[in-house]
Amino acid sequence: MDKRRLVGFRKRLEAKYAELDLFLSKTQTVSRELGEKRRGDEGEEATLSYNREMLYSQGDSGRTQLMLVRDALIRLDEGEFGICESCGCSIGFKRLDAVPWTRYCRDCQEEVESGTAVPGER
Ligand SMILES: [Zn+2]
Repeated sequence: MDKRRLVGFRKRLEAKYAELDLFLSKTQTVSRELGEKRRGDEGEEATLSYNREMLYSQGDSGRTQLMLVRDALIRLDEGEFGICESCGCSIGFKRLDAVPWTRYCRDCQEEVESGTAVPGER
């Protein structure tokens, strides 16, 4: 892949990383605040625990994505960006353009998602 494209991906990944990092520190603050709130009546309590659960699940997917973005940045540093982790072929530019932190080419992603292949065992 040419350098200009790689630089563009790096910028996008770094921006995404910063965005997720901010988002996660925000959810942490909010969930702490929610946790510190005094117990109110039952309805209020239900809303609070619903909010907490929402935050936890958002935080979870945020953390997962943060990891993917971080890994992609490491691959950029190592010159392995855009290479499928499963089959080693290069991932199409269009796919990377849509999801720069993807780890697999389209074929492997489909296999991973349908559960027919164990990533990395080929
Ligand atoms: Zn692949």
